[in-house]
Amino acid sequence: MPQLTIINGEVLIPERGMVRAGLAIDEGKIVAIAKESVLPEGREIIDASGLVVMPGIIDPHVHLGFGHGFEKDCRTETRSALLGGVTTIGCFIGGTCLHSQTFPELERIFNTQAFTDVFPHLCINTEEQRAEIPVYVNQFGVTSFKFFMFCIPGYMPSQSNAFILNGLRTIAKFSSYCLASIHAEEASILTEQWNNFFRSGKKTLIEWAAHNPVEAEELGVIIAASLAAMSQCRVNIVHLATAAGLARIRALKRINPFITVETITLYLTLNCLSEVAPEEARWSPAVRSSEDQEALWRGVEEGIIDTIGTDQDCVTREGLQKFIQDYGVSGSSAVTPLLLPLLLTEGYHNRGIPLEKLISKITINPAQLWGIYPQKGTIAVGSDADLVLVDLNREFEVDYRKLFSVADWSLYQGKRLKGFPVMTIKGGEVVMKEGKILPEWGKGKRIKRG
Ligand SMILES: [Zn+2]
Repeated sequence: MPQLTIINGEVLIPERGMVRAGLAIDEGKIVAIAKESVLPEGREIIDASGLVVMPGIIDPHVHLGFGHGFEKDCRTETRSALLGGVTTIGCFIGGTCLHSQTFPELERIFNTQAFTDVFPHLCINTEEQRAEIPVYVNQFGVTSFKFFMFCIPGYMPSQSNAFILNGLRTIAKFSSYCLASIHAEEASILTEQWNNFFRSGKKTLIEWAAHNPVEAEELGVIIAASLAAMSQCRVNIVHLATAAGLARIRALKRINPFITVETITLYLTLNCLSEVAPEEARWSPAVRSSEDQEALWRGVEEGIIDTIGTDQDCVTREGLQKFIQDYGVSGSSAVTPLLLPLLLTEGYHNRGIPLEKLISKITINPAQLWGIYPQKGTIAVGSDADLVLVDLNREFEVDYRKLFSVADWSLYQGKRLKGFPVMTIKGGEVVMKEGKILPEWGKGKRIKRG
């Protein structure tokens, strides 16, 4: 007798489509997908009538440690993620310390505090870290990295093309399962314009967009794609924000098999005319025009954009002020728990993007890209029983107080969303039901790859 069966739901299987079927789950894995009449009866039965059963959502782009320190953030933000059906996150690990020295402690934190599973991406910021890449792959089972062609001045220096190329060549030696993310904006254009912006005392998002010329991303994309081709290293261009960048990627993808691209919820849901407090959305890369926003949605529909993340780096309201003071840019509120509802509202309901296509960007595509498929990202016999049961037509209002994040504010406060995650199941266990998180402690694990 399986531990759990889910019956009467519409099951969304990536690359297969919607299937009317029941699921049987045992020992944390999916063990059968079948018509209810032939499905063995579970010890526990969930009736998913009127709901869509989707794979657990993957947010491939999350930062921790900006709210209340890394350990506490890991606990609160991965717990909060369950509210949105997110069962796995990709977490960027920054800093200039040798990861060989800090990683064992991070591993302990992930394995004791996280409510979701986690696959870390190590940022390569120094020559010493670059030299250690073999250790990260061979000893730690980390196969994804990140380079900053542009980084927030005062926070971390931007990296030269020579440094990135050298890093990509080091990574490419380990064969095709390694992947490097690149923040692809040309630094000299932005540095000059940012200086002008901060000297001018300007504030609005329109002015911020004007001081973040789209050419910086367009050129950044061309450089990142060239570095990928030269090194033959797979490169994922993260947080794409502009139509110009997208147009370059569309053309480059035809001749360059090494590049993939991510955009984030912020650029899909806002533009520089949106009615939000400017200091809550002074992001880097900047939110641009509504034309840029709509181009990104077309990129999602066409399949040019491979994955969608949140780039969440939760800060408190106080922390937000400090970010603006110290670096001139905003941190974020809790977005990971809203990733799925935001995409359902803006993509599926408001723009008519087919559900299966939309959901592939936050399930199968990131799972395949980061080497955790078919354990994650799909509904198949043998896959982890990570699932979210969604009421596509149920509306709700965003309230940060119900997201249990360290962020005591929300960029989306009061916004009505359509598409409600009713239940989250992780490893065969119901971990969230109707906005209530059930386990006391997280059972998330760091996923080893390679
Ligand atoms: Zn990021």
